[in-house]
Amino acid sequence: MKTVAIIGAGPAGLTAAYELTKRNYKVEIFEAQDQVGGMCRTITLWGCLADLGPHRFFSSDRQINELWLEVAGNDYRMVNRQTRIFYKNRFFYYPLKPVNALKNLGLWEAFRCMFSYCVQKVLPVRLKGDFESWVVRRFGRRLFSIFFKNYSEKLWGIKCSELDADFATQRIKKLSLFEAIKSSITGNSGRHKTLVDQFAYPTGGTGMIYERMGDYVQRNGGLIFLNTKVKRVLVENNTARGIELENGTVRLYDAVVSTMPLTSLAANLENVPGEVRQNLRMLTFRNTVLVYLLIDGKDLFEDQWLYIHSPGLSVGRITNFRNWLPELYNNSDKTILALELWCNSDDPMWHSPDEKLIEIAKSDLAETGLARSMPVIDAAVYRIPKCYPVYAKGYFSALLPVQQFFSGISNLYPIGRYGSFKYNNQDHSILMGMLAARKIDGDESIDLWGINTDYENYQESASITETGLKTAADTGMLV
Ligand SMILES: Cc1cc2nc3c(=O)[nH]c(=O)nc-3n(C[C@H](O)[C@H](O)[C@H](O)COP(=O)(O)OP(=O)(O)OC[C@H]3O[C@@H](n4cnc5c(N)ncnc54)[C@H](O)[C@@H]3O)c2cc1C
Repeated sequence: MKTVAIIGAGPAGLTAAYELTKRNYKVEIFEAQDQVGGMCRTITLWGCLADLGPHRFFSSDRQINELWLEVAGNDYRMVNRQTRIFYKNRFFYYPLKPVNALKNLGLWEAFRCMFSYCVQKVLPVRLKGDFESWVVRRFGRRLFSIFFKNYSEKLWGIKCSELDADFATQRIKKLSLFEAIKSSITGNSGRHKTLVDQFAYPTGGTGMIYERMGDYVQRNGGLIFLNTKVKRVLVENNTARGIELENGTVRLYDAVVSTMPLTSLAANLENVPGEVRQNLRMLTFRNTVLVYLLIDGKDLFEDQWLYIHSPGLSVGRITNFRNWLPELYNNSDKTILALELWCNSDDPMWHSPDEKLIEIAKSDLAETGLARSMPVIDAAVYRIPKCYPVYAKGYFSALLPVQQFFSGISNLYPIGRYGSFKYNNQDHSILMGMLAARKIDGDESIDLWGINTDYENYQESASITETGLKTAADTGMLV
């Protein structure tokens, strides 16, 4: 029986472990945290379940959905998405609804938006490989400055002109202004993930899926070591031989799947060429601070989450867990909100004491007026390091030599969001885990670095619905 070490018990690592266990491999998972699920873990706060910020599951890929349903069984519900943008004390539906947008913007501002959109049709701005020129050309400068600039700069910590256009091509894709308007009128979201208006949510929180995968692995002979950080992967003659833990213990394996940050993986390897080390310095991450506030009251707002675009507020997104699966709240008359703050590891915010972060969150919440006079009765802070790989302009030319270097090491499989420096949603990390298992099991044709977050699987598309998996033919719609 071959043994495989898996670094990290997030969606990518656990899916790889789950699939390898089914194929009779012996897996040993090492997780730095005290719980499985990675960024998708579900925590218990004040007697209720909450995720690390908003986590909706959506995929149109049949194999990913089949696996998710295999694990979830019937323990999920479909949630009708409602999310809005909060900008200058007004709520804009997202995805956009023309009447609401027009009402909020006012006739004059709406005219300016349309005018600047038309200018781009006649005299388009030159594309420079950056996010700003990509969005301006597609939506016009006015809409860019209202709906994209402030939020993106808050999230990424760099100017939109320094952000790579890859971020837009992967997340906004081929969406046009007309398509967004058409979709809001016809109610058909087409193929755009951004516009999908229903998603599946497990009755035990997002983390339930990964807890169950972990249970399956353990029931079938695999091991999970929590609170166990891996220091480095041991490589000899360009082949991974095992791992060394932080406490100095060395363990040998036939293969190693790594979902730890790609930069940390490389930092502790021997014989990394100078050019690769130099490129690694250009691959940076953004951190999230989540401030959870317990509010004495309900019915604050009806969205699952709000995007906070208003200039002057530090908070970027507010999740209201009451509006996901109300049944998870039992009969509580309280509300848990999660307010997201984004920063770099060397920003003072990242090192601020909890009390200061709670004060920022409370003051921003008060500024929005969302809680009205309902008091905050408790608070908790969670810090998630390195959760956003920053697609700084030109990042891909830095990433390519790094990928080539790792491709030259056999039996080592770096996958996952920070594990492969790709802006994955959980479905992409699940796919990477599935394919890593197949590759280890002998399918050499699989190129793990080739999995992109904008991949589409039209041949085998199928979506999760209330009653299970439905293909396009079943529903008569695009999925
Ligand atoms: C605020 C927020 C909102 C999100 N919303 C959504 C959403 O709506 N829908 C969606 O699909 N996705 C969403 N995501 C993305 C989703 O969380 C990730 O795509 C997913 O968790 C990535 O899985 P992963 O296994 O690649 O990485 P992770 O979940 O990060 O797992 C990696 C694991 O490795 C462990 N680890 C790291 N270093 C070591 C080490 N040296 N030794 C041992 N263990 C180590 C970590 O502790 C972690 O548990 C969101 C993410 C954030 C931060």
